[in-house]
Amino acid sequence: MEKDVDINKVVRQHLEMEQFFAGFAVKGEQRVLEPKRQSDAPDVTASAEELEKIADEVRQCRKCDLGSTRTNAVPGEGSPKARIMFVGEAPGADEDAQGRPFVGRAGQLLDKIIAACGLKRSDVFIGNILKCRPPENRDPRPDEMISCLPYLQRQIEAINPDVIVALGAHAARMLLNTTRSIGQLRGQFHEYYAGIGRPPLKLMATFHPAYLLRNYSDENRRYVWEDMKKVLAELNLPLPPQSKN
Ligand code: URA
Repeated sequence: MEKDVDINKVVRQHLEMEQFFAGFAVKGEQRVLEPKRQSDAPDVTASAEELEKIADEVRQCRKCDLGSTRTNAVPGEGSPKARIMFVGEAPGADEDAQGRPFVGRAGQLLDKIIAACGLKRSDVFIGNILKCRPPENRDPRPDEMISCLPYLQRQIEAINPDVIVALGAHAARMLLNTTRSIGQLRGQFHEYYAGIGRPPLKLMATFHPAYLLRNYSDENRRYVWEDMKKVLAELNLPLPPQSKN
């Protein structure tokens, strides 16, 4: 027997998603991201200094072969007191040319996602598992990820975000130490262990923007939107007014 379809609900969800991916919030009012509770917040100056120190080390790093094939290392960028930290896979050609994360096509989509959450790029921190571009954008090799991971772990420790958003399978699997697929991992919170004696951080896995660009279906877009809505709820941030239509 066919299920009854609530056409109004379907239309509303579709419109909500269209707005989300059109980056409507860029034009709208952006929220002020509430600061973290003082007791949990690392000292901001110390965090900023630590992030700069890590970035300097990354720029000089030769721990793997990518150190000699890159144009620029891409340490990551954003707020030292970010409540959300996005973690991608590795820089691509645009990022390698500019030394900045997510500045190509996938980055433009990530910007829209951030804006649709009512946030600015400068509110969050954006980093990668690998800090240097693999030639021809091939998949990161395990030895490269193992060499590079300590930089990201230190960035996470310096920022102590409320939520990490792992973009794509490589980031999610590496941070969660699992071989499960992104389809299995996305949509629910996991625990990221930052070290012995430290409370685990919440991690949401979702599809990588580059995957989404290649597979731009309503279904996939809705998945990412649902994942980001869970992140906003976790941070007690209401949906921006534009997306409630
Ligand atoms: N894809 C990534 O995973 N990271 C970037 O910085 C850009 C594209």
